[in-house]
Amino acid sequence: MSDQVPLMELKRITKVYPGAGEPAHVLNNVDLRVSAGESLAIIGPSGCGKSTLLNIMGTLDGPTSGTVNFDGRNMLTLNDRERADFRNRSLGFVFQFHHLLPQCTALENVLVPTLVNRQTEHARARGTHLLDRVGLASRMHARPGELSGGECQRVAVARALINSPRLLLADEPTGSLSREGALDLTTLLLELNREEHITLVAVTHSLEVAEMMGSVLELKNGALIVRRGNAV
Ligand code: ADP
Ligand code: MG
Repeated sequence: MSDQVPLMELKRITKVYPGAGEPAHVLNNVDLRVSAGESLAIIGPSGCGKSTLLNIMGTLDGPTSGTVNFDGRNMLTLNDRERADFRNRSLGFVFQFHHLLPQCTALENVLVPTLVNRQTEHARARGTHLLDRVGLASRMHARPGELSGGECQRVAVARALINSPRLLLADEPTGSLSREGALDLTTLLLELNREEHITLVAVTHSLEVAEMMGSVLELKNGALIVRRGNAV
């Protein structure tokens, strides 16, 4: 294992949902190190806790116990505002459903995350560049209703990258696409991972998608098992 500080490190992460009946122990002492530049798939059946784990990595949810470090910094000591700022600057998110604003064009949707810091000419130029990069140069001014599912997901990828995040967290990014669309989108994500040096962590239940990534981990009974690559 390298001595370098990992980009993201989870230590002894436990997550218990109290619930009405028996508490659900979803994550049980999970350790994970993600190195800068790697591409990592997390697989496992529905309900095993993949989204829970990704949401904890994205500081969208907190663990019951354990620590979450990003670039050597403890994320759990940040206040809400600092955490939101960290997410906006350093993380990009892609979900199964694109969550684009229907009344806005592709380009306007891509620029939404830049509105917090006021929209600049630079942001517009980067948004145009990213839409071109994801193959939508001729569809920048189309609204989501005029785009296919795969095209909307490409807009969502461009939106996730607009603030040049270091880590892209994708939760079933290909879950709503055809097999061909899923393989195309995964190819695109891996090209962006290599070209822009964006670390990629993707949750998927497609083994075919997972096999395209650098490392594969399986979440099983609340624990992570290395299937290929990444030394947890
Ligand atoms: P996956 O993404 O692998 O399908 P999830 O992380 O969404 O799994 O869910 C893991 C388990 O935790 C499931 O049994 C789910 O019902 C439960 N769970 C998820 N979120 C909550 C919540 N907010 N409250 C209670 N239980 C939850
Ligand atoms: Mg899920």
